[in-house]
Amino acid sequence: MPFNEKTMAQLQALYLLGATDMDYNKERTKMKMYHSLSNDVDRKRIKDISLSCFLAFSMVRTPGDVAACHINVKPQHITIYIAKNKKDEKDVILANTIKEFVFAPNARALGFSAFGKKYLEIMVKFCPGKIHTLATAVKSGGLHYKTIGKTTSKPVKDLAAIIKRLEEIPISPNAGTAAVAKEKEANEQRKGGQNLLQFAGKYKGDIGKAIVSALKMILVNIENAHKDPKCLYYASYAAHMIGTAKISNDLLEAVLDNKKTGVTDRLLPALVKFGRYFRGSERLHRQTGSCLQAAGQNPRVDIKWVESQQSSVTMRHSAEDIIVETFRDNNPVPLSNRILADLKSIAKPLEENWRHKMNLIVHCEILLIKHLKETAKLKGGEIGISKGSCGACYNMVNGYNLYDNDEWIVHSNHGNHYLVLPSGHKEVDERAANHIAEELHALISAHLKLQRNAESADLPSDGDASDYQEESFRTGEDFYAAVQAMGLD
Ligand SMILES: [Zn+2]
Repeated sequence: MPFNEKTMAQLQALYLLGATDMDYNKERTKMKMYHSLSNDVDRKRIKDISLSCFLAFSMVRTPGDVAACHINVKPQHITIYIAKNKKDEKDVILANTIKEFVFAPNARALGFSAFGKKYLEIMVKFCPGKIHTLATAVKSGGLHYKTIGKTTSKPVKDLAAIIKRLEEIPISPNAGTAAVAKEKEANEQRKGGQNLLQFAGKYKGDIGKAIVSALKMILVNIENAHKDPKCLYYASYAAHMIGTAKISNDLLEAVLDNKKTGVTDRLLPALVKFGRYFRGSERLHRQTGSCLQAAGQNPRVDIKWVESQQSSVTMRHSAEDIIVETFRDNNPVPLSNRILADLKSIAKPLEENWRHKMNLIVHCEILLIKHLKETAKLKGGEIGISKGSCGACYNMVNGYNLYDNDEWIVHSNHGNHYLVLPSGHKEVDERAANHIAEELHALISAHLKLQRNAESADLPSDGDASDYQEESFRTGEDFYAAVQAMGLD
């Protein structure tokens, strides 16, 4: 199936269907978007590309924006390729400032903490909006604030309330010891965990007290993190420790009511994101060092920008069209009137937010790969992105690897689908389009199943949604619809 306007409408349906509350049997049920892809990524490779990822992350000045980076190291010459969907003059100045600082030979001479603080100064100067938003999100513990139409996910409890709760129900020091032993046994100890253990040593090994103290440190410093690099450094260090350590994850989940506080769903991911400043600057120091070493004495360092591509798209499909059409495409059996009615009721809540005209872009990682292939004549490499790829782009990257024998690696994939323009590579786009159609069909089937279970709560279970369309006809009207659809009436 070609990647055309229909595919874009399917992407829109996937996005809205995955994010809209549906009312089945008076119980509001939210179907999660399909995250079938998000486990595809080879986690071991993520660390390999953290330099380009972190540069991409640093290039985002305001939240919501996305950047992709690739670093090409040749003898005497390093090229940093940057693709950014919204680029202005400040981005150019920021990129040059980062380049001048981190690739300067004398930056190596600085110890890590001096380097880290200088780097954070650059971030505080250029990206205060991003840091402020992150800080606010961590403070309230709800980073994933999403508004689609009337559906707004609620923020979790305030960080101060979490600290208060932890003080009321202290984590027993024994629980900490048990968690550490378990972690050591599983050989899962991460850098954050090591830092936390060292920190807990100051509290005679009481992990609970250490966690509370680190959370307080975040709370106190977060207010000024967007103004003062020192505060950003403190809050980020503590956030990295709490957010990435398995010990704190396990203990917080056990002590706090996860349903009410959303501690593992929201607070910890928010902390991990915030903590990236600390961890990232540390890695930046080390990895730019090895990059410079690989390039030899005083190499030239260039930045190449990739121009964004956008286009205005008018969607002729309605939500109903696309839901019915996608379901029909994947089911050889004609649709009964009842199923048609069910499909219409699934599509109805989407109509309100359905956009018929919109400006779409080629996402930055695809933009970057296209440029690297066409202009730099590269056949593979590590593509750093400031956040994971969407489902469509991840499939496109795999498409390049499959059809052109390329070797591109993206650092992660969040599995969600956003509206995106095709790459322009026929096979690559076909692969993405097929995948999108399959995902949407699976999601519609899952909704049908829920809807049906709600309708016939008093009837025996009907099994899989996949046999839904092959059921026996309930009424003569249903049967007649099938006869009609086959042109036999
Ligand atoms: Zn994408």
